[in-house]
Amino acid sequence: MVTIKNTVQKCNRCKKKSVYHRIYSGEYLCGECFKGSIIEKTRKTISSYNMMEHGDILAVAVSGGKDSLSLLDVLQRHSSKHGEKIIVITVDEGIQEYRDEAVKLSSDMVSNMGLRQEIVSFKSLFGFTLDEALDLRKDQKISACSICGILRRRAIDLAAKKVGADVVATGHNLDDFIQTYFINLTNGDMGRLEFLSPFFESQTDLPRRVKPFIEIYEEEIAFYAYLSGIPFQNIPCPYMNEGIRTEIRSFLNKLERRHPGIKYNTYSTALKLLSSTQPSRKRRKCENCGYPSSNNICLSCKTIQMIKNNRSVN
Ligand SMILES: [Zn+2]
Ligand SMILES: [Zn+2]
Repeated sequence: MVTIKNTVQKCNRCKKKSVYHRIYSGEYLCGECFKGSIIEKTRKTISSYNMMEHGDILAVAVSGGKDSLSLLDVLQRHSSKHGEKIIVITVDEGIQEYRDEAVKLSSDMVSNMGLRQEIVSFKSLFGFTLDEALDLRKDQKISACSICGILRRRAIDLAAKKVGADVVATGHNLDDFIQTYFINLTNGDMGRLEFLSPFFESQTDLPRRVKPFIEIYEEEIAFYAYLSGIPFQNIPCPYMNEGIRTEIRSFLNKLERRHPGIKYNTYSTALKLLSSTQPSRKRRKCENCGYPSSNNICLSCKTIQMIKNNRSVN
C-alpha cells in the first residue's frame, strides 16, 4: 500500500496553505502573511533609518513599474498609521511606445487612491526627450541608462521641490542596490556611490532621499504586486540591454540560486564599505546649479550641456 504524503506546506505563521517558499530563511508563507512580511520589513527599514516622520510631505516617485507601484501601496498603508502626507511624482522621460502606458498605469492607480500626482517630463524640464538625447549623444560609450539615471534623478529633485516635499521615496530594491554597486565598482565611479545609500541627505534645501524597499528582493516585490492585484508595466525598456546591468543581474541571480542569501550578504557588506568610506569624501556644490556635486560642475549640468551642444552643431 502506498501512503500519499501531504506535500502541501503550511504557512509557518498562520497554518493556512502556503504559496511562497522564502528559500534564504526557510519560511513557508500564505499570501496574506507574505504581504504582511513585506509591509513589516518596509516599516522596519523606515524606522531604523528614521526615513520619515509624522506630518512630513512625502513625495513617492512612481514610474508605473512593479517596484514603484508596490511602494506606493505599502507607503499608503504606512502613512495612514503614521501621518505622512503622500504626493506622487512621475517623470515622463520621453521614450516612444514605452512610457505612455506606464504613465497611464500610474495615473489610474493614483486617482483610485485619491492622491495628487505631479507629472514632469524631460522635454518640459530640459528641452529634449530621452529619445532625442540618445540620438544626440556622440560618445556611444555613455549608456542610455546612465544618461537617463542622471537626468531622472534631477527631474525627481525638481518635481519634489515643486510640491514642497520634505522627503522623496523611490522604489529601489535590494537587487537594484547591488547591481548598481557592482556597476560602479567596474567603472570607478566613486562619486556616485553615496547615492546608493538607503538614506541620503544633501545638506542643501533639497528634500532627503529614502529607499524603503532597499532590503527587499526584487522577486518578492514582483510577487507582492501580483498578490495585491496591482497592474504594472511588464514590457522592458527598449534601452535596457545597452549597459552591463542585465549581465550583472543574471550573474547575481545565478549566484543566489546556488547560494540562497548571498545577495543579502553582499548588500550588508556593501553598506558597511559605503559607511566607512563616505565620511572622508568632501561634498561640494555645483557652480552652475547649486546642487550637491563631487566636482565643480555636476553630472546633470554636464549631461544637459553636452546634449544641447551636440544639438547646436547638428
Ligand atoms: Zn499565513
Ligand atoms: Zn549642476
